[in-house]
Amino acid sequence: MLTLTPHRTSWMTDELEDLADMSLAFFERESKPNQKRWAEQQHVDREFWNRAGEVGLLCASVPEEYGGAGGSFAHEAVIVESQAKAYDSAFGGAVHSAICAHYILNYGSESQRERWLPRMASGELVAAIAMTEPGTGSDLQGIKTRARREGDEYVIDGAKTFISNGLLCDIVIVAAKTDTELGAGGVSLIVVEIPPDGLEGFERGRVLEKIGMKGQDTAELFFDGVRVPAGNLIGQGEGEGFIQLMQQLPQERLVIAVTSVAVMDAALDGTIAYTKDRTAFGREIFKFQNTRFKLAEAKTEATIARVFCDHCIERHLAGELDAPTASMAKWWLTQKQCEIVDECLQLHGGYGYMLEYPIAQAYADTRVQKIYGGTNEIMKELIARSL
Ligand SMILES: Cc1cc2nc3c(=O)[nH]c(=O)nc-3n(C[C@H](O)[C@H](O)[C@H](O)COP(=O)(O)OP(=O)(O)OC[C@H]3O[C@@H](n4cnc5c(N)ncnc54)[C@H](O)[C@@H]3O)c2cc1C
Repeated sequence: MLTLTPHRTSWMTDELEDLADMSLAFFERESKPNQKRWAEQQHVDREFWNRAGEVGLLCASVPEEYGGAGGSFAHEAVIVESQAKAYDSAFGGAVHSAICAHYILNYGSESQRERWLPRMASGELVAAIAMTEPGTGSDLQGIKTRARREGDEYVIDGAKTFISNGLLCDIVIVAAKTDTELGAGGVSLIVVEIPPDGLEGFERGRVLEKIGMKGQDTAELFFDGVRVPAGNLIGQGEGEGFIQLMQQLPQERLVIAVTSVAVMDAALDGTIAYTKDRTAFGREIFKFQNTRFKLAEAKTEATIARVFCDHCIERHLAGELDAPTASMAKWWLTQKQCEIVDECLQLHGGYGYMLEYPIAQAYADTRVQKIYGGTNEIMKELIARSL
């Protein structure tokens, strides 16, 4: 028999392999048995966040002095991959750790870092980032949410939608216009803290009903004269928000790409096993040439995807990942994820359409990957601008 030597991830170390084992075991043990219930209630249990914090799975790339694990993006990537392997699409840990924490870490003042990061690392605070509005998503310069300075406070008015962790979040990084006359230059990021007993003028809307990721609390948020201290502005001054977003979005896109790679591999492993087990016309489904060729093609593409993703992670770890390359990873890997998961579902026949099979769940969860984090059309636009 021919042996396929698995691709060895270039940036993997023994320590990261231990983290991968530990985090996979955590998601298998703490998440898998609850996924159906979480999907029904449209959110993970709030205590799950605290448990993830206790075992060090929150803010893994935040320095230890701020309560994090002192790791790098590689640590976040390993955790994201473990979560995807366990088919957990409910937990918004990546938004919290690999995205929100980095706005505070990179642009926040020392007192902001000390105030929010340790509690984010422990799970005491759940974080969200609110950019998208009912009227605008791709065109971020066009947001209407307004933050007006009044004395030593900002007064925020506006509505946000599709916000991951929207139901459970305790702090939200809100993209708002501090100058409505300006486009990108008028955007600022401001942290809104929501105490357990609520905040005047702040309301959570409904948790939105999605075709997949049903256990993820994606929600609307409303701000009606919400007052926050002026010191909650992220950055040196007003109008820096758009640049901060542009600098951080490549990491968000890489997180999405890492998920794609993990889901492709999990879908393939499950489908290879299924087609070797199921028979039709007196033989294993796997023995039909169509099955073999589809799986051979998918395995090749999934391997190319992983190699490119590893290349991007290496460059990101070296501080050299540019935005167009991150956009390439986001659009191409999510596109391949959709194609491969669809082929894998087809090879399951009718069972592939039944939610009790992981491939059906993966199919429903996968579709959004081409949409959030910047749509794949916007990714191509960003790449084209660099040509
Ligand atoms: C499950 C989920 C979770 C999300 N989580 C968050 C979150 O936590 N925080 C947050 O802020 N947002 C979040 N989003 C929002 C997400 O980022 C947006 O949906 C996305 O950016 C697209 O914006 P839109 O929905 O307004 O689509 P639109 O911008 O209205 O786009 C509609 C279509 O037009 C295309 N289009 C738009 N402009 C161009 C162009 N210039 N060239 C070519 N085509 C174009 C788009 O590609 C798309 O196909 C989430 C969305 C989902 C579904």
